[in-house]
Amino acid sequence: MAQPTESIVSASPEVLAGLDHWRTLPIKQQPDWGDGTALAAASEELSVLPPLIFAGEADQLRNRLAAAAAGQAFVLQGGDCAETFAGATAAQIRERVKTILQMAVVLTYGASVPVVKMGRMAGQFAKPRSSNTETRGEITLPAYRGDHVNGYDFTPESRAADPGRLVKGYHTAASTLNLVRAFTQGGFASLKEVHSWNKGFAANPANARYEGLARDIDRAIRFMEAAGADFDELKRVEFYTAHEGLLMDYERPMTRIDSRNGTPVDTSAHFLWIGERTRDLDGAHVDFFSRIRNPIGVKLGPSTTPETMERLIDKLDPDREPGRLTFIARMGAGKVRDALPPLLEHVKTLDATPLWITDPMHGNGVTTPTGYKTRRFDDIVDEVKGFFEAHRAVGTHPGGLHVELTGDDVTECLGGSEHIDEATLATRYESLCDPRLNHMQSLELAFLVAEELSA
Ligand code: PEP
Ligand code: MN
Repeated sequence: MAQPTESIVSASPEVLAGLDHWRTLPIKQQPDWGDGTALAAASEELSVLPPLIFAGEADQLRNRLAAAAAGQAFVLQGGDCAETFAGATAAQIRERVKTILQMAVVLTYGASVPVVKMGRMAGQFAKPRSSNTETRGEITLPAYRGDHVNGYDFTPESRAADPGRLVKGYHTAASTLNLVRAFTQGGFASLKEVHSWNKGFAANPANARYEGLARDIDRAIRFMEAAGADFDELKRVEFYTAHEGLLMDYERPMTRIDSRNGTPVDTSAHFLWIGERTRDLDGAHVDFFSRIRNPIGVKLGPSTTPETMERLIDKLDPDREPGRLTFIARMGAGKVRDALPPLLEHVKTLDATPLWITDPMHGNGVTTPTGYKTRRFDDIVDEVKGFFEAHRAVGTHPGGLHVELTGDDVTECLGGSEHIDEATLATRYESLCDPRLNHMQSLELAFLVAEELSA
């Protein structure tokens, strides 16, 4: 009888028990699912559905992130604050992927550095909230926690947490990822299409600048082709998925044992990050994500102390594995220059090499008098500059950018070369959660970051 060429390795009982240790720890930001039977049924269903990613892809991403941590690549993470089920349309997914590809081209060409591309996509359906409830007029209902949990409509039925949404989120993530894979592997992302990604966008300074760059790239490709070179690398791109690892009732059933080596991998996404509100050292999230093999991120706000950072490294990256741990700094433009350097200095005294990414969105929120949650483009740019300054001063590597963006021409962030002002916000404000950079603001930011990178 033929022997299997590879043996199947199962996890040790300790490893399996460890995956449920979080259940004994303090936990934040979980919905009240009500009746446990519906949740049990959803968990059971999720636990036997096919994985969304292959463990080997997560390992490959870890290697890419290790290169970025060493200053040999730059990471771009972008996408909605909160994906919605209704927003998982071909057009919206295409525009978002296109925007990330265009930003990556600007960064690669402008700074001559490989760009690791990751979408806040195919699973970014759950949101931490500052309050458990929302009040409108006389009525108080549970807060919207993302499409994975409840509906945005302000009715008791819609706001009730529904475990069936965990399964619907899985299927929405699967179809999103399927299209992302088709776009990035099937020719759409070929560098030969670098011009066509820009079609249909209104004439504006960032797009005009992009056109110039696309012309240069075209010329270079034609030259290489004429010289007989035909690189597969030009036709396909690696594109990874990422979301906040927030809902344990999604992440735990999506975690599987890699039969090649018996280790647990969260197959809901290539990269998971722990949010600023759930990164308690002795809490459920840090414990759970310390036990899975995917590359892991942690958001760090301005109050993070060097001691807390060191303990996060010890818990999440005890083996000091290059690419395993990413710190996503979201300090705020006014604080980054004071809050980040002590952390970077402290890392230098440790035997650790985390990857540092800037999230210039979440420390810069403002609410307009008319009630819109927004951010100023100038603050976003200022935080990015402060992030680069801090790394330059300390001698560490600024490794990436994490932004909330959409490929559509929304009006959610103030400023940029279109000069979106408070009156304009109302014209096309579509986010159910935080404000996103629109297509052009995203491109503008990419040009600015490319300048910083090549400075
Ligand atoms: C987010 O990324 O949408 C988010 C909630 O971020 P943070 O955890 O940094 O507040
Ligand atoms: Mn957000």
